[in-house]
Amino acid sequence: MDDGMRQALNAQINREFEASYVYLAMANFFEREGLDGFAAWMEAQSEEEREHGERILEHLRDRDARVELEGIAAPRQDFDSPLTVLRAALEHEREVTGHIHDLYDRAREIGDHPAEIMLQWFVEEQVEEEKTFGDLVEKVERAGESGSALLVLDAELARRSG
Ligand code: MG
Repeated sequence: MDDGMRQALNAQINREFEASYVYLAMANFFEREGLDGFAAWMEAQSEEEREHGERILEHLRDRDARVELEGIAAPRQDFDSPLTVLRAALEHEREVTGHIHDLYDRAREIGDHPAEIMLQWFVEEQVEEEKTFGDLVEKVERAGESGSALLVLDAELARRSG
């Protein structure tokens, strides 16, 4: 495997694990706010990110390419409001999408077909992730200052995560 590609995929493993940590901190925030449905939903997002990291990690292992785990910085843990959290999460997903597209371009450029196919899944997954977070941002924006609308959403998310 091309060493530049290997390093770039290693960096993505780190980003996925970092995203998992970021979402875990967000889940903690929601739990502190008494929004257990949001917390459970965010916790599920956090687990998904870990699975994303594992998926790339296994790809490297399968190809006898060395995995190098890097450090993960402490995530932001204080937020003004649920909307701030979700907007930050959506922004984070958009950044990840950019990195996935760069990786995909790189795999194509160097003719790394296995990496290209593995990354196709991620390209589609990012469309889904941005839609999921984007929809929730819209709903929370619509809820506005209404605590009761937020609680209805919280109950809906609790059902979806349970
Ligand atoms: Mg991910």
